[in-house]
This record gives sequence, structure tokens and C-alpha cells, in this order.
Amino acid sequence: MSERPSTRWQRRPGTIGGKRPWNDWRNALTWRRATQCLMLAINIYIGIAFWFWVRYYETGGASTFVSRPGGIEGWLPIAGLMNIKYSLETGHLPPVHAASMLLLSAFILTSLLLKKSFCSWLCPIGTLSELVGNLGKKLFGCHLTLPRWLDIPLRGLKYLLLSFFLYISLSMSARGIQYFLMSPYGLIIDVKMLDFFRNIGTITLSCVVFFTFASLFIRNFWCRYLCPYGALLGLFSLLSPFRIRRNADSCIDCGKCAKACPSAIPVDRLIKVTTVECSACMSCVESCPVASTLNFSLRQPPGGQYQADAGVKPLWRQTAVSGAAMAALVLGILFAAVAFAMLIGAWDSPVPEQIYFRLIPESWRIGH
Ligand code: SF4
Ligand code: SF4
Repeated sequence: MSERPSTRWQRRPGTIGGKRPWNDWRNALTWRRATQCLMLAINIYIGIAFWFWVRYYETGGASTFVSRPGGIEGWLPIAGLMNIKYSLETGHLPPVHAASMLLLSAFILTSLLLKKSFCSWLCPIGTLSELVGNLGKKLFGCHLTLPRWLDIPLRGLKYLLLSFFLYISLSMSARGIQYFLMSPYGLIIDVKMLDFFRNIGTITLSCVVFFTFASLFIRNFWCRYLCPYGALLGLFSLLSPFRIRRNADSCIDCGKCAKACPSAIPVDRLIKVTTVECSACMSCVESCPVASTLNFSLRQPPGGQYQADAGVKPLWRQTAVSGAAMAALVLGILFAAVAFAMLIGAWDSPVPEQIYFRLIPESWRIGH
């Protein structure tokens, strides 16, 4: 039986007891939480502003007017998918909900480059799910890990839902998509979504309560098993050149990375994490006590000993993504998409006011 030679390992810079303090600027989890808080605040603003905007038309102009927040289009992924197909088929921008296509494209781009970072850095549902999970850990002291025979088929559910949404979005021709999105239902599809939450049915409410309750015990229950959006981005993330990489030589096999992973990925047994379940949350990176051993990068980290011996700046240093860089990249891609949409006039709705005055008060009667 061969034994690994014992080598002195280097502590990760800035760590105390294996972890960096939250207020250390190098702590990736602090950057992620700050980004999540920003996105949650933006989405709360979008929700409130959109509600006021809808009320203005529902009351025939008697209530306070608030401009329609363009970011509401980010909540219309099916319209986004339809419009991607429309644009690919016709070579033209879609006539309505073009911003939903540009936002979805931006989120796909983050997945192509930076794994499923949308889920753990930008998505407000992911943030809420994580908060509920943290509360569950505080209340009960631990989370449940489902056995593989149950976990694997449950993870398949989100792909079934994704297949259904892909079918209804992409089976239409470009002409059919245009007809649907220019119909009264398509024009106010955002208002119909608000109505869905305002007039939430007993079954939907029971599901929301169940998912919230389940998230107390099972980390990211909704994201892991049911979210079709995450399933779609996960498939694109397979192409990401950046991924979690481990240096097996400098690794001391402490298992802290695997324990910290919210997706239950056995990071401590992998050289690189390729699975669709990795959301680039950096929890594993921040839990590793050894320098240059675990990174989110383009190349394998060479290990702390190598770094000390070589005394040169190795290539991985230029390719490993820090928390600050990750925040700048995910937010940069998102805001670049918003700026581009504004520049080409696709951010604001092109639907005339008089149509909204006619359709929105009647939205409860409009079906597809
Ligand atoms: S492998 Fe690391 S980055 Fe990926 S989900 Fe697990 S903890 Fe997060
Ligand atoms: S890579 Fe994982 S198992 Fe290895 S030292 Fe770092 S935290 Fe421990």
C-alpha cells in the first residue's frame, strides 16, 4: 500500500481557523451575499413598481403613475425562449418582449462562461431558498441528504418540466410566435403573471408552502429538483471553461469542501467539477484551508508547495476567478445586456398606452 509523502501545507492567505473573516475583501461568500442582496432589492423594486404600473391602468389612470420597470421582462422566460427562436428564424428583433430575450441570453451567457452562477449569484428565488435553508440549519442543526436512489430521479423532475416548456416555446413557428405574442394575452403576459400571484389558488399556495417547508430540511429544494430555468442553464453550464478545480497533491483530504457544498457534490474526490449541479457558489473554495488547492479557474491549481518553491506567479493565478471578479462578471454581463437593450430601444414596452388602458382592466377575462 503506497502512502502519500507528508508535506508541510500552506495556509490559505487571510484565513483564521481555515476560513476568511466575512469582512475580508477576498472572501468570495461576502461578494456573493452582497450581489444576492443587490439583486433581491432590485427585484423587490421591480415587483412594487410593476404593481403600481398595473394599478394605474386598472383604475383608468386614477392612481399614481409609476413607469413600467423593464426588468419585469426577466420574469418572462417562456416569452424569452419564444423570442430567441423568432429572432433566430427571422433575423429580426421580436415586436414585443424583446427585453425578455436579451435578459435570457445574458443569463445563458453567464452559464456558458461561469457555470450556473445565475442560480447562486443573481436569482432572487435562489437567494430566498438559501435563506430558508440557513434558517432550517439554525433551527434543526443540520440538513437532510436524500439517498441516491431518491435524489437522482427527483433531480430528473426539473428536466421533465424543462422539456415541457421547451416544447411549448419552440414547437411554434416564427409566425405562430408572433401571432401569440401580439395577441391580447401575449401583449399583457406580464400582467397575467402578476395576476397569477395576486389571485393565487389554493393548490399553488399549498405548493409554495410545501417547497418552503421542504427547503428548511433539504438545501435548495426547489432549485435542485424542480426549477426548469436552472435545468436549462445547467445544460449550458456544461460548456463552461471555468470550473471548480482541485489539486489532489496539495489537498489534505479534510473533506471541508464537500461538506460545504450546497449541491452535495463530492468535491474532495474530484479533480474538476463538471456536473450540471454546480452553481459556482464558491462555498467549497472558501472552506478549503490550503493555499492554491481549490479554485474556480481555467487551469488546475498547482498547490501551495509548488507556489512557495517556484516563487513565480503561475498561470492559474491569472485564470482563477476571485469573489470580486465573479461579482463584477455576473453583474457586468447583466447590466451590459440592459444597456444594450436600452441602446437599441428594446428595453421599454412598445405597446401603446391606449391598448394597456383597454386590456389591463379586462385582463381577468383574457385567456390564451
Ligand atoms: S462544487 Fe463548490 S462552487 Fe459548485 S456548488 Fe458545490 S460548493 Fe458551490
Ligand atoms: S480541496 Fe477539499 S478536501 Fe482538499 S484540502 Fe481543500 S477543503 Fe480539504
